[in-house]
Amino acid sequence: MKLTVIGCSPAWPNAGGAQSGYLVEGDGRLLLDCGPGVLARLRELEGGWPRVDAVAITHFHLDHWGDLVPWIFGASFGPGRAVPKPELWLPPGGRERLKGYGGELSFVDQIETAFSTREYVDGTAFQAAGFDVTPVRLHHYSELTFGMRVSNHRRTLAYSGDTGPSPKLAELARDADLFLCEATLREPEPAERGHLSEDEAMEAFTASGARRLVVIHRPDELPLDASVERAADGDIISL
Ligand SMILES: [Zn+2]
Repeated sequence: MKLTVIGCSPAWPNAGGAQSGYLVEGDGRLLLDCGPGVLARLRELEGGWPRVDAVAITHFHLDHWGDLVPWIFGASFGPGRAVPKPELWLPPGGRERLKGYGGELSFVDQIETAFSTREYVDGTAFQAAGFDVTPVRLHHYSELTFGMRVSNHRRTLAYSGDTGPSPKLAELARDADLFLCEATLREPEPAERGHLSEDEAMEAFTASGARRLVVIHRPDELPLDASVERAADGDIISL
């Protein structure tokens, strides 16, 4: 299993950065989230239109799905026409939600040209790009949001997506080879929770028993303890 960090910025881009996008390669190629900046990076990496078997979206905050819009246009009218369409795995209700945005932003008729849309179910593993992917519902303000556990029977990667503190984070990353965990905050939020501080990410990592923690979705301006790994766009990790 090979991970490429396409983009790991938070809800706004770090300087020169792309927003959430993590390419996992094994027997197939799976893209976890597709935020603004991700499509251009993938095109640059691959020298053409990206060839992925599946894209899985954790939630409908724009920094995690926004580049689906130009992807849909490029796959319908541009160089993506020549490329087999990937599966697009969405949260429950996601097809209707994407259609709604498509109605507003003039891409509704092209969605199924670009992608074979599917919806996943909380806690139920699905097969995508040769991986077993288990979505785990997490707590992220009022937004329906999932973390993703990706396994190929030899290696397991856990991706927190966006989340506040939750005992389910430890379940998501239980004994994983790699835990990509967000640490968006300097300090825990005083009221409704939707993100983690560095300490909270460390607590989830320790509780999970995962082997390696890499922090994502963190503003460049926020420090991180020198002993903690911070993802950077372009990082490649072989598991
Ligand atoms: Zn979010």
